[in-house]
Amino acid sequence: MGKLDIPKSNFGRWWNAVLLEADIVDVRTPTKGANVLMPNGYEIWEAIKANLNQRFKKTHHKNAYFPLFIPEEFLLLEEEHFEGFVPEVAWVTHVGDKKLNKKFALRPTSETIMYYMYALWIRSHKDLPLKINQWCNIIRWDTKETQALLRDREFQWSEAHTCHATAEEAVEQVEESMEIYSGVFDDLCLSYLQFKRPPHDTFPGAVYSIAYDAPLPEGKCLQIGTTHNLGQGFSRVFNINFQKEDGSTGAVYQTCYGMSTRVIAAIVAMHGDDKGLIIPPYVAPTQVVIVPILFRKKNEEEVTQACLEIEEQLTKANYRVYLDDRDRYTAGWKFNEHEMRGVPLRIEVGPKDIENNQCLFVRRDSGEKISIKREDLLAEVDNVLHDIDTEMRNRTKKLLEDSIHEAVTFEELVETYKKHKGFVKTNWCGDEDCAQQIKDKLSAEVRGVRVDIEKETLFGPCVVCEKEAKDVVYIGAAY
Ligand SMILES: [Zn+2]
Repeated sequence: MGKLDIPKSNFGRWWNAVLLEADIVDVRTPTKGANVLMPNGYEIWEAIKANLNQRFKKTHHKNAYFPLFIPEEFLLLEEEHFEGFVPEVAWVTHVGDKKLNKKFALRPTSETIMYYMYALWIRSHKDLPLKINQWCNIIRWDTKETQALLRDREFQWSEAHTCHATAEEAVEQVEESMEIYSGVFDDLCLSYLQFKRPPHDTFPGAVYSIAYDAPLPEGKCLQIGTTHNLGQGFSRVFNINFQKEDGSTGAVYQTCYGMSTRVIAAIVAMHGDDKGLIIPPYVAPTQVVIVPILFRKKNEEEVTQACLEIEEQLTKANYRVYLDDRDRYTAGWKFNEHEMRGVPLRIEVGPKDIENNQCLFVRRDSGEKISIKREDLLAEVDNVLHDIDTEMRNRTKKLLEDSIHEAVTFEELVETYKKHKGFVKTNWCGDEDCAQQIKDKLSAEVRGVRVDIEKETLFGPCVVCEKEAKDVVYIGAAY
């Protein structure tokens, strides 16, 4: 593992270098867009999974697993849904040298296969609500340029699919999912905007879609999660009917929501710096690394002993700790490696520290070095990790604030967007043609109306047609 020799300001090259050097993703596979999630990347993914699973358990979601193979006729059932996904579907058409009578899609998303089964399971209002999540891989054979974690052809994700007795309950479920996702993203110290997508950008088959867009350094935004209110569109097609309390029957109301390994992309891109990753303390696979500093064998036994004691003390206090006592690497090499991998806090213990009954804290976010008395160690680890968490939140909050600009006229919009990228806030009439004109001119889309704040007050007419505007919206380009 070497040092990164590319500054983050050269984002495209930094991205590939940091993903490989920090043990996150290796793209040198035989299949473009289907990459290896490496051990450090996978551990971060496991931490995200654990965080989300815990929130799902609390809200009575159950995990399950559905087949990878989706019969073609399932995708054909919901026309809009099919049209939305078919350009990216990979098909299984043969077994051995025999052509199959019917072909199977490798799941681009699981609505159809799950809802086919839901129709078999749900009989009465007593079976509702049904809230099932699955962790799986997804195949979307995007023909555009792939980019590791940002635009993959195969990726890992969580998709939750729920059924409810009433439309109101489905709306409440959308809100619950938004709280769950916000909780996860907040623990990851990410900053993002929550949008209701415009009708022309709603998930194929859904009534409305909510999405979470995080601003990345290149000026594009990354959709890190989505929630859809599906209404009865799918349940009518898949006959997911139930007997109501009054004896009558009806179709269930549904929602679905998902987040993928793109969240790792947001962590790397938003928090990383010229030295590599910075992993938020509360999800970091290793929160504290202890590095013994052995110098001319001085106090060697005492240094080793002190490191073991600190490791034990922190492990007992439930921190995720790694004592890096590998003697084939120098201390300097280890510093680089753990900085690259984003470990939030490093504790060094050297011969001098033994004499003074202290150790040295080095913060990954700021590089700040602090001498700590041994008796204060536990309290100080707690303090410093908390401070790092706060600092990381503040940084991404500022990143988000700095990414938002405003424009009233089309000319201003073009000028502002070209200059700053990120999000440009403006007024829109709701007409898809106006959105298309923006897209043609800027290769950026109407991301939607914000739902994480009170409805914003209009500050002009539609930025394109100059007719009366309906909503304050944000323009931005997505990965
Ligand atoms: Zn307009």
